[in-house]
Amino acid sequence: MDSRLKHITHIFLDADDTLWENDSYFRKAEAEFVELMSPYVDEYFAAKTLARHQEENIKVFGYGSKTYLIAMCDAALEICPEEFGAGMYSEIRAIILRLALHRLELMPEVEDTLKALAEKYTLIIATKGESSEQMRKWHICGLQDLVSAIEVMENKSAADYRNLAVKAGIAPENFFMVGNAVRSDVLPVIEMGGWAVYVPHKDFSWQHEFAKMPDSEKVFEIENISQLKDLLL
Ligand SMILES: [Mg+2]
Repeated sequence: MDSRLKHITHIFLDADDTLWENDSYFRKAEAEFVELMSPYVDEYFAAKTLARHQEENIKVFGYGSKTYLIAMCDAALEICPEEFGAGMYSEIRAIILRLALHRLELMPEVEDTLKALAEKYTLIIATKGESSEQMRKWHICGLQDLVSAIEVMENKSAADYRNLAVKAGIAPENFFMVGNAVRSDVLPVIEMGGWAVYVPHKDFSWQHEFAKMPDSEKVFEIENISQLKDLLL
């Protein structure tokens, strides 16, 4: 155990691409959209156009599949306005349904690690995204006996984490977050005075979440979630 972490009582865990796979399903949906656009534009342009519309729509509608549906329609309307109609809409909707209803796949060693940590710590999922989508995954994840609560955050800014800490009755210096995204799970937590563990997902490629690691003694980087046991037990 890291002796600097003796005061920690609660562990906050990101969910998408930390506890279970998520980004790969978005990339699959993206590839299907690119394929749908292939008669009109090349792969690169279709993917870029979709990413741009997704960024714009996230600002208005938040994260999740529904926003991706709007982004795909916006991108298709820009790429091939003459072709966009009922047929294309149903194809896009089918891509989004496959994305929204994908089966849930826990990352390796998540269950055993949480089982060990739950003996000593209160575990809370702090995830970001569309509420009904996140709750669907929570209901089918099978981790309910190990995790005390789930918080679906609208965003993950330092202020959002501060609110979460207040709600949980945890002082900022006792706030301990684990996640796969530097921008969402590490930077804002360090900014609000907490501790963060970065567990990169090897195939995670969403540019939106990329950021430089902060230079702080309160950040750890581990390769696999099971290494949390070395830090905390
Ligand atoms: Mg994540």
